[in-house]
Amino acid sequence: MERLGHIIHNAVDNDLWCPFRIFRNGSPFSHLFFADHLILYAKADMNQANIIESILTVFGKFSAGALSNSWSDFLLAWSIGNGNSINVFSDIWIPMLGPPRQHLLDPSMASVNLSISDLVSAEGNWDLTVLQTLFTDSAIEHIIGIKCPDPLDGNDRCMWRWTPNHNFVLKSAYMNLVDSIWLPKQAIWKVIWRLNVPQRIRLFLWIAYQQKLMTNAVRHRRNLTVIPHCLNCSNQPETVLHALRDCADSRHCWMQITPSPILHSFSMNARNWISCNISASFLHPFFKLPWNLIFASFTWQLWKWRNDVVFSNDSQSDAALINRNIALAKHFNGSISPPAPLSLPLHTNASTWPPPSSGWHCLNVDGGIALGPRNGRIGGLVRNDKGD
Ligand SMILES: [Zn+2]
Repeated sequence: MERLGHIIHNAVDNDLWCPFRIFRNGSPFSHLFFADHLILYAKADMNQANIIESILTVFGKFSAGALSNSWSDFLLAWSIGNGNSINVFSDIWIPMLGPPRQHLLDPSMASVNLSISDLVSAEGNWDLTVLQTLFTDSAIEHIIGIKCPDPLDGNDRCMWRWTPNHNFVLKSAYMNLVDSIWLPKQAIWKVIWRLNVPQRIRLFLWIAYQQKLMTNAVRHRRNLTVIPHCLNCSNQPETVLHALRDCADSRHCWMQITPSPILHSFSMNARNWISCNISASFLHPFFKLPWNLIFASFTWQLWKWRNDVVFSNDSQSDAALINRNIALAKHFNGSISPPAPLSLPLHTNASTWPPPSSGWHCLNVDGGIALGPRNGRIGGLVRNDKGD
């Protein structure tokens, strides 16, 4: 990804990429790497979109999949003209179908460079013989329902995908980005959100549920390591489920603390396992704490434990791990309140400061006191009718 950073910096230095400034004379932002996400900042116009596309395409050829293709799926769609500029497999040109490469009979064809004008017969119609060698039947039904490329129709046109008139509107980009990534409508997030654990554990559970923890299997898929296997047992690919539950050490710990009413979930797939356990709020028969609290805290501890072993060569016994986890769960249970319901209105009426009448001054005061040592502080601000 550093290579991508260099390419973007070069584009900025050569005045091709217009970075974003929070303040008029502030530092320009062009990109931000955050965990395994990449956020790009540029002027919102078609020229910048084309520059971003060309840079990411160049980078994609070198990175062998380190960058997902989903960014281009998100941004743009094509209006068919002569068909010479539209890549059959990587561009969005079939309405209601998304990326065509997802509908190939042979996925390896996705790397072939073919424009849609190559899909037209000598008579000027869609060439069914070619289509049938490339696409599934349902995709072909979509394709033959749209207008065929025609040399007389001029160049193909690239358009914003998410508004009816294909003009770029920031709100449409935001709403589609939020819909595709955050999925707030999923009931599971509401359950995680209500757990009495720190926010970092809620986010950890959410990422685990989405199967996006940076396990070795995920790192291998992204060409960040040569071995997908668990470094702890070397038996299996290190998936989320393997790391958090099925690896021998993890399972050994779980079997010591998991109460019998929830044992059946330990044969479920990852999402059902997480969902089932964080929804189980019964009190643990021995520790007298809500089971979902112990579960949430312990998955987080297990993940930290595994990382400490790999990266710091620092290990602790499973008994110490369990004791520490129960202590933490007790702490969370007594000290952390569930957050406010998500149904709170997003915009509340902000209180405003009314100026005093002309010739008067207003003194606003506030104070606080610590109940333990009973120390207090008070402060005030005097302003005239102009606010000075
Ligand atoms: Zn393992």
